Amino acid sequence: MIRFLSLSLNGLIAVLVISLFLFMPALSDAKQLKPVESLQVSHKKDIEDYLMGHFNPKKHEAFAKVPAKYANRSGYYLRKEALNAFIQMHKAARKDGVKLVIRSATRNFNYQKGIWERKWRKQKKSRSPKNKALNILKLSSMPGTSRHHWGTEVDLNAFNNKWFTKGRGLKLFNWLNNNASKYGFSRPYTQKGKQRPTGYNEEKWHWSYTPLSIPMLHDARLVLDDSKITGFSGSQTAKKIAVVQNYIFGVSQTCQ
Ligand SMILES: [Zn+2]
Repeated sequence: MIRFLSLSLNGLIAVLVISLFLFMPALSDAKQLKPVESLQVSHKKDIEDYLMGHFNPKKHEAFAKVPAKYANRSGYYLRKEALNAFIQMHKAARKDGVKLVIRSATRNFNYQKGIWERKWRKQKKSRSPKNKALNILKLSSMPGTSRHHWGTEVDLNAFNNKWFTKGRGLKLFNWLNNNASKYGFSRPYTQKGKQRPTGYNEEKWHWSYTPLSIPMLHDARLVLDDSKITGFSGSQTAKKIAVVQNYIFGVSQTCQ
């Protein structure tokens, strides 16, 4: 009787363990796919299109226009949550005598394609396609791989790292480093080195709203690969460069 009981107990444990394994992928999928809700889309293809910037932010219900007083011009768009957080941060900075100015926000695929192809045409004919692409990637991202597609990124005040190292720029940069995280903002393109061996060069002006962009980066891991990066001159180089791994995921720890 005791022997029978222990056998059936073992059997029960075995069933439990097997069912746990059976359901585990579903559970972990559900966990990983949760960020999808934050995008308000329901299919992988939709997520892929979103992350690659194949949409018009002006017509997307999760986006809002950035009021001109927060930017150098009107016409920028951000996801509503990111914009609200930025406005709170802007107010706090203002109290401390720091004026944050948005110089760029959401840029969709077509916009990025325009930038990229203009630069592609200017590359020396003698360069290999891969070297042409690597040369452009020093300053601009490949269409489909820019974090600016996501509606969570802002470029602030000056496109010049030096500006942030003295005077007004340094004061602003110090303020952001001490306070931005309270509002959910973090810097993806920190200094390159051991901590961040691949990706774009340092950009002191580029800040990311991580409560949205971190889940989006996780989504990117699920749906994007180099074969999806197509639709522009030189896109055949995406695979050779491993652009998804080296650039999309080449961000600081605080943005992962
Ligand atoms: Zn940027």
